[in-house]
Amino acid sequence: MARTTVRIPTPLRSFAGGRAEIAVESPTVGEAVRQLVEAHPGLRRHLLSTDGSLRNFVSLFVNDQDIRTLERDATPLKDGDVVVIVPAIAGGAPAGARAPPLPSRGPLGIAPEPPFSPEELRRYSRHLLLPEVGVAGQRALRRAKVLLVGTGGLGAPAALYLAAAGVGTLGLVDFDAVELSNLQRQVLYATGDVGHPKLAAARARLEGLNPGTTIVPHEERLEASNALDVLRGYDVVVDGTDNFPTRYLVNDACVLLGKPNVYGSIYRFEGQVSVFDARRGPCYRCLYAEPPPPELVPSCAEAGVLGVLPGVVGTLQATEAIKLLVGIGEPLIGRLLLYDASAMQFRELKLAKNPGCVLCSPTATQKGLIDYPAFCGVGPTAPVAGVPEITPEELKAELTGADPPMLVDVREPEELAISHLDGAVAIPKGELPERVDELTRARSVVVFCRSGGRSADAVETLLELGFQNVRSLRGGINAWAERIDPTLPVY
Ligand SMILES: [Zn+2]
Repeated sequence: MARTTVRIPTPLRSFAGGRAEIAVESPTVGEAVRQLVEAHPGLRRHLLSTDGSLRNFVSLFVNDQDIRTLERDATPLKDGDVVVIVPAIAGGAPAGARAPPLPSRGPLGIAPEPPFSPEELRRYSRHLLLPEVGVAGQRALRRAKVLLVGTGGLGAPAALYLAAAGVGTLGLVDFDAVELSNLQRQVLYATGDVGHPKLAAARARLEGLNPGTTIVPHEERLEASNALDVLRGYDVVVDGTDNFPTRYLVNDACVLLGKPNVYGSIYRFEGQVSVFDARRGPCYRCLYAEPPPPELVPSCAEAGVLGVLPGVVGTLQATEAIKLLVGIGEPLIGRLLLYDASAMQFRELKLAKNPGCVLCSPTATQKGLIDYPAFCGVGPTAPVAGVPEITPEELKAELTGADPPMLVDVREPEELAISHLDGAVAIPKGELPERVDELTRARSVVVFCRSGGRSADAVETLLELGFQNVRSLRGGINAWAERIDPTLPVY
């Protein structure tokens, strides 16, 4: 019986008593997972399908090897082995208000190649002095067209470094406006940009940094209908998205167009970076064949993030993009870099091409793009399909009526310190299944969170547990603060 350690990733720690590592004595990986879900039943639906097989949006590694390249569930373990669980993560920040469209700068032009001006020679002198870059490499950068999908936490530092490096054309895909809460990490923007479209602010900042870089704004949401057209004109795509539907679109469009996809994602203190280039290695679907179902994705509002984390990950992505464009170094193809800012540890896992990948293998069945439902970033006023809801105005009326509903706040403790509703019972969403006895089935129950996503999940859970009269507060406590009680802060 081998004594091994299972590393629990941050998104799943709340289902494992908050622990980062769990010691398991087990002869195989499959047995280790079985012991894990027995000891921590909350992990079961995150790791295993109903038939007991491993979920395909979770990857398992023994030390640095994907078990799919070993003996899968039957992979033997020996003393001291480390089993690493790597779930698909998309990061997340709430979708902001839609900003007015920005006039397009026109189609990508093909620039002639003039010699470097004296100004350019000075600007890029530290690159020109590097033998690995030199004049030829700098010319390659000037000719290059890089598309940044998302100009948020990852896209902001990546855009700054790529413009500074002298990338000739930078395409930017985003349609949000700058919010005050973005400034903690999205270093492209200044306080005066709050409320303005991100692309206008990004363009001004990047053109100020390097007038030699042409900025091409794509102020639209990437969808199956436009993704191929948007990506087609670029050499390298940098994936700085914060949601699964766009992440799969970027991957799939890159595979279909034969372009490298510089991938980055972040969650709280942890980041992932890789280069997916199906011509030379695996694609994102080789790693995770399909996105997790919405109810298993940490909601946007839960996904806090250390501000410098996307700075590190986005800068790593810019590094990989520059290496690909200049043709130097060892790209992160076939390797997944994991960065844990809290422990200040980098780990590297080997990624193999999945010989049965639905998208990039010889037997691929997927020939086009797929629009997945946009479950992360549901707008604060958008109803959640299939979940009984109550608006803030209706709740206010009921609370002052004869039979007020019981209020259940499913946010995390740190959020309660920001705002709360009097009389609400606080039960974090993850603890709800164990603490349902604190709710009375006789009364009607209204569940709320920050903006309505987690409470909708919680209502579904309660309905499954047999509760009848439960509703989710649409738009959460933030909508209540905006429409009913302006003394409450919005966060
Ligand atoms: Zn693939």
